[in-house]
Amino acid sequence: MASFNLFLLPGDGIGPEIMVEVKSILSWFQARGVATFETEAGLVGGSAYDAHGKAISEEDMKLAQAADAVLFGAVGGPKWDSVPYDVRPEAGLLRLRKDLGLFANLRPAICYPALADASSLKREVVEGLDILIVRELTGGVYFGEPKEIVTLENGEKRAVDTQLYTTHEIERIARVAFDLARTRGKKVASAEKRNVMKSGVLWNQVVTKIGKEEYSDVALEHVLADNCAMQLVRWPKQYDVIVCDNLFGDILSDVAAMLTGSLGMLPSASLGAPDAATGKRKSLYEPVHGSAPDIAGKGIANPIAMIGSFAMALRYSLGLGEAADMLDKAIANVLASGVRTKDIAAAGQNAVGTKDMGAAIVKEL
Ligand code: ATP
Ligand code: MG
Repeated sequence: MASFNLFLLPGDGIGPEIMVEVKSILSWFQARGVATFETEAGLVGGSAYDAHGKAISEEDMKLAQAADAVLFGAVGGPKWDSVPYDVRPEAGLLRLRKDLGLFANLRPAICYPALADASSLKREVVEGLDILIVRELTGGVYFGEPKEIVTLENGEKRAVDTQLYTTHEIERIARVAFDLARTRGKKVASAEKRNVMKSGVLWNQVVTKIGKEEYSDVALEHVLADNCAMQLVRWPKQYDVIVCDNLFGDILSDVAAMLTGSLGMLPSASLGAPDAATGKRKSLYEPVHGSAPDIAGKGIANPIAMIGSFAMALRYSLGLGEAADMLDKAIANVLASGVRTKDIAAAGQNAVGTKDMGAAIVKEL
């Protein structure tokens, strides 16, 4: 039986509560002989700061480096609003992304049929939506230098951010998107703004070349990023995989998320480059939502985004695609049977707590 080493970083707020439910799911898979999971847990974010004054310790960074996958809950909360900038809770996640080289952020936007009638939740959703945004995560305007505010001789100030991409950075994110498209609808839309940005011109050229030379079986379409936002609202189902840079990906993935009506239910994956010898990638899986300090400790958080993130780990890091499909199906079936946590319950509908939702999914498995 294959054995995997998972590093759990529950973090702050509801993070620990939802991570408990992932543990019971992985125990279930282990008991059924799917794989052996060795788990180790560490501290990140505010809880790490409270314990040792840093957002993540060197020891925990080593464990993250050695793991087959990192499962991350959420970090932050009002308790740590005034801690020094470089040890703030979010610094733990940024350090993980940087040191593990997690350059590809995968955000599926899936609308569960059972939640499609969301009118009582005061949202409109796109029934049957299933698209995947692939966002470049370690480059672009978020990191390019110079990045500064300077005071000019006349006393005026000037702010500079630099949008910077190399061929190598674009090639590797393009390959991630094309590889994923091969396992789905065999379609990639690449979003940039080549009409006003040099980085958009290069992005377009490099993605075109990779598509032509390595992925002739996948249809490639280029779309200007602003048009892509418009198209996502107009007719989102025209897309399968969308690949874009760090900034556009930040915005487009939030647009796509709300088309599902359930930001609190969405999983995500962040992947590094495949190792030259083993082909294995460094990886981190986390819910899209944050630490939800307003409901922390109440036992009412929805664990589905965290559990769905574990399903992504099974699929993308552990080679257990069948188990991942099974888990995704169990989540969909539980929702179809009407079980709801408070955040997705309609007015007048009974809501269950975190533990009962986790237990319902295990039972469905
Ligand atoms: P961050 O800055 O970390 O993204 P945020 O303040 O933007 O955090 P969240 O922490 O995700 O946002 O919380 C936004 C709202 O959604 C809160 O009211 C929170 O209670 C709710 N929420 C978030 N995640 C969940 C969940 N898993 N279950 C139930 N409610 C949730
Ligand atoms: Mg937020």
